[in-house]
Amino acid sequence: MEKIYDIAIIGAGVTGAMLAHKLAKYKLDVAVLEAGCDVASGASRANSAIVHAGFDAACGTLKAKLNVRGCAELPVLAKQLDVPYKNNTSLVVAYGEEDEKMLEVLLERGRKNGVPKLEIIDSARLHEMEPSLSPEATAALYAPTAGIICPYDLTMAAAENACINGCEFYFDYKVDKIERDGDILNICAGDKTIRARYAANCAGVHSDEIARLIDPEFPIKLIPRRGEYMVLDKAEGKTVSATIFMVPSKAGKGILVSPTVDGNLLVGPNAHEVGFKDDTSTEAMGLEEISQGARRLVPSANLRAVITSFAGVRPTPDTDDFHILPSAAAGNFLNLVGIESPGLASSPAVAEYAIEQLAKMGVTLKVRDDYNPFRTEKGHMRKPFRELSNEEKAELCKKEPAYAKIICRCETITEGDILAAIRRPLGAKTVDMVKMRTRAGMGRCQGGFCSPRVVEILANELGVSPMDIKKRDCGSDILCDKTK
Ligand SMILES: Cc1cc2nc3c(=O)[nH]c(=O)nc-3n(C[C@H](O)[C@H](O)[C@H](O)COP(=O)(O)OP(=O)(O)OC[C@H]3O[C@@H](n4cnc5c(N)ncnc54)[C@H](O)[C@@H]3O)c2cc1C
Repeated sequence: MEKIYDIAIIGAGVTGAMLAHKLAKYKLDVAVLEAGCDVASGASRANSAIVHAGFDAACGTLKAKLNVRGCAELPVLAKQLDVPYKNNTSLVVAYGEEDEKMLEVLLERGRKNGVPKLEIIDSARLHEMEPSLSPEATAALYAPTAGIICPYDLTMAAAENACINGCEFYFDYKVDKIERDGDILNICAGDKTIRARYAANCAGVHSDEIARLIDPEFPIKLIPRRGEYMVLDKAEGKTVSATIFMVPSKAGKGILVSPTVDGNLLVGPNAHEVGFKDDTSTEAMGLEEISQGARRLVPSANLRAVITSFAGVRPTPDTDDFHILPSAAAGNFLNLVGIESPGLASSPAVAEYAIEQLAKMGVTLKVRDDYNPFRTEKGHMRKPFRELSNEEKAELCKKEPAYAKIICRCETITEGDILAAIRRPLGAKTVDMVKMRTRAGMGRCQGGFCSPRVVEILANELGVSPMDIKKRDCGSDILCDKTK
């Protein structure tokens, strides 16, 4: 007889993966259905990576509550799941009286939302903390609890943990139909069907469409708003140490300048509505707009040191809050819609809140005896080769010679690191999957040197022809024929 899952999660972004991770603790059969070929195929792979402190969202909203909770939990969870996180703090910078009035509003709102240790600092203290900030900055809102994290690594870690605890992942599974068969949901993708007693819709910018598959009257409309970014070389990574924001406007939190956990400098995003929900292209005009914004914050930022650009699409709801409620048409179908920023910072709290909803909907939560809270079966992951001491490196190379072969010179990624990424739970199958798991190809040359070697290693390890290795997903062929 066909398997019936207790819960099917639609979408493996940070929301779906975190929900799977938190559900893995319970005696439940869980499946994650993802349209892409990897986790973090949507906004969770392309955002500002900021663990916001929680002063932006309007008081009393679900967003505000879950942001503050998520911000407190993420440092602990990141340690448990071996995800790089840094408590680098944040500053919202004012230029003159009007902006300073806005800082007071944010301070008051933050305090009401329960954000700890918020304060407004004057220009002297601000410039002492961040000497490269514009001399025109007059004050700032200082949030000591804010941080930065690797968003796709967090998503991957949550998914890997769920996987080793028995959760099953289905990739290239683009849900296009949901039928009710008594109390069971038949969740279809083309001619494939997964059956489940409950479902959670975590489909990001497409979650309103998924909600309408079960309830054509679902009222929330998501407006896709693209944000473009530039990533600067690691040589510029120490330009600022905190995340530097402008005073927010109606369009959102505005352009920021921030270090990343991997040591680059991130500049962006702008915010423009796009006609196509998956439009993650970047344009010269957009990059010029974010360059201007970044120069206003940090005039000395060396914007010639850009190594790549990217864009993410926000699922902006017309209700301006997270919507985490059962469908009006089906009491066993939970919608998580409009999970826009701070969806990353809030993700552990969003998952906990969703589980409270699932419990109210009738899901029985019994803790498993054999639950493993870590990312690997044996506990913590091995550090990447580049982070080992010279003695540790020498010992590892002697034991496993694949670690003695550097494949990505920019980021010092070895063949051993790449093989480990392929062999991990939910292991890499494409060049981009290797890149997201190891950083091979994320450095100054952006894969110019290492990509052919990565293709070779993937083909050998997976036992396929190099011609079958894709860049990202089907249609993104790298090699098309032999020349000799
Ligand atoms: C420009 C930008 C900047 C941001 N900055 C921050 C920040 O600094 N801090 C912060 O906290 N938040 C930030 N966010 C918000 C954060 O990125 C999102 O809230 C979060 O990533 C949402 O995760 P998600 O899993 O809900 O959606 P997604 O990551 O989009 O995942 C949804 C998944 O569902 C899959 N899917 C879609 N349709 C289907 C289907 N039919 N069938 C199966 N699967 C499907 C997609 O492939 C995707 O993998 C930012 C967002 C953007 C766009």
